[in-house]
Amino acid sequence: MPCPICEKETVAAYRPFCSRRCADVDLGRWLNGSYAVPSSDPEDVEQAASEAAKAAPKIH
Ligand SMILES: [Zn+2]
Repeated sequence: MPCPICEKETVAAYRPFCSRRCADVDLGRWLNGSYAVPSSDPEDVEQAASEAAKAAPKIH
């Protein structure tokens, strides 16, 4: 099963993602989607992920 973010092969430690970064991107999408219109622009997604990482307490 490919990474849902970048479609590379997944890594067991980060399933269903390929990396911590993609897991964070997915988290950012999810958080962003809860209060704003989701964007499919990759740069927006990355920005949302980094904003979410700064704004949200670590939940794992
Ligand atoms: Zn990935």
